[in-house]
Amino acid sequence: MVDEKTLWAEASAHLQAGFADLPTAAGVPLDSRAAEVLWEVAERLRDNYPYFHPLYAGQMLKPPHPLARLAYGLAQQINPNNHALDGGRASSAMEKEAVAELAGLFGWQRHLGHLSTGGTFANLEALWVGGQLAPGKTVLASAQAHNTHTRIAQVLQLPFETVAADAAGRMDADALAARLAQGNVGMVVATAGTTAMGAVDPVAEILKLRDRFEFRVHVDAAYGGYFRLVNTLEPRTRRALAAISHCDSIVIDPHKHGLQPYGCGCVLFADPTVGRFFQHDSPYTYFTSDELHLGEISLECSRAGASAVALWATQRLLPLVEGGEFAQGLAAGREAAVELFGRLRGSNNWLVAWPPELDIVCWAPAGGSASAISARTRAVFAAAARQDLHLAMVSFPTELMRQHWPAVDFDQDTVTCLRSCLMKPEHLTWLDAIWEKLEAALTTA
Ligand SMILES: *Cc1c(COP(=O)(O)O)cnc(C)c1O
Repeated sequence: MVDEKTLWAEASAHLQAGFADLPTAAGVPLDSRAAEVLWEVAERLRDNYPYFHPLYAGQMLKPPHPLARLAYGLAQQINPNNHALDGGRASSAMEKEAVAELAGLFGWQRHLGHLSTGGTFANLEALWVGGQLAPGKTVLASAQAHNTHTRIAQVLQLPFETVAADAAGRMDADALAARLAQGNVGMVVATAGTTAMGAVDPVAEILKLRDRFEFRVHVDAAYGGYFRLVNTLEPRTRRALAAISHCDSIVIDPHKHGLQPYGCGCVLFADPTVGRFFQHDSPYTYFTSDELHLGEISLECSRAGASAVALWATQRLLPLVEGGEFAQGLAAGREAAVELFGRLRGSNNWLVAWPPELDIVCWAPAGGSASAISARTRAVFAAAARQDLHLAMVSFPTELMRQHWPAVDFDQDTVTCLRSCLMKPEHLTWLDAIWEKLEAALTTA
């Protein structure tokens, strides 16, 4: 074991020694007013759910790895900007290496790609490139795709339509084929790990449709991309994730499952020549080197170099290898999800629909109607929080849930359910505690 404070002090001194030749310049002094403000900050930050704790089992929130935090902090002493090499030489090189490793996760030897502030912007670039290649053509995504795609299409002024999802929340390949047959589709967005339930679209079947129709395939693997490394998934999910290698572009979010602080998404293109769309001459930057400046292949300008440094460090410690230490962490969260689902299914107190495809479980307290179930869900959500168990809620359309719960009276358009993203490996060892609190919440709701 290494003490974190010692580690930090030593690495920090080593970094500073690299600039020891400079004449000493005074830093900004901190006084008692600064101390007061910082105290106030700590006080204010107490107004949060405990995202770092295993009893936080709600939204897609996962604490960064301690090494990612340290590396990020170290980079903050320089505060590099990965827009241009002028603003961040080392961190730009580290970004290129880390991104190449992410491309390698999908089996790509060759790629064009970079980090972004998040999945939204990464998807925006992928859809923008798709729109440049097929102007005026429609973009399709499943009804369960992230709502960011609708908005991105609006921003880019691309025609956009949704394709029905099946009972498991995956894009319906037959419905897609029928829509493709009508023509004028430029791009299909497949989601690998939907935000609501972690469903993985049938990527292989979608790609197969290219035998009959011409279109680009973008995979939004912001949430689920890393699960390629997990070998305990169902065979059909494994097959869908493996097929991602054959698509045109990919988005993956290191700040979702890659143990990174927020501000870290990634877009990858299979064909490096799409870089031509990004080309521009900046009158301000790009002077120091003929080497690639990351701003020349991205729509965003200033971007935290620290994000690249943290990702690089994390991947160095925990390489992206199938079944490796990092993959085992993902597998533990998934095991927790499968276990929770089994307990819910075995109990008359709860309603479940589909088994978790990744590590997200959706369920609801038993009830006779959609309105009663939704009201009970809200009550259990609040009662669980009083037990220090923090869950999330999600609402699903009636037409989806009707197939699963035939005895329920669907007296409204949607039904609100409970949702747990079991993203932390520790969720597995905490599952008994989670279950106990959940049952207690039901009786006190
Ligand atoms: C989270 C997510 C997004 C949006 O990414 P941000 O990093 O939140 O901007 C897009 N698509 C999917 C599938 C996601 O899970």
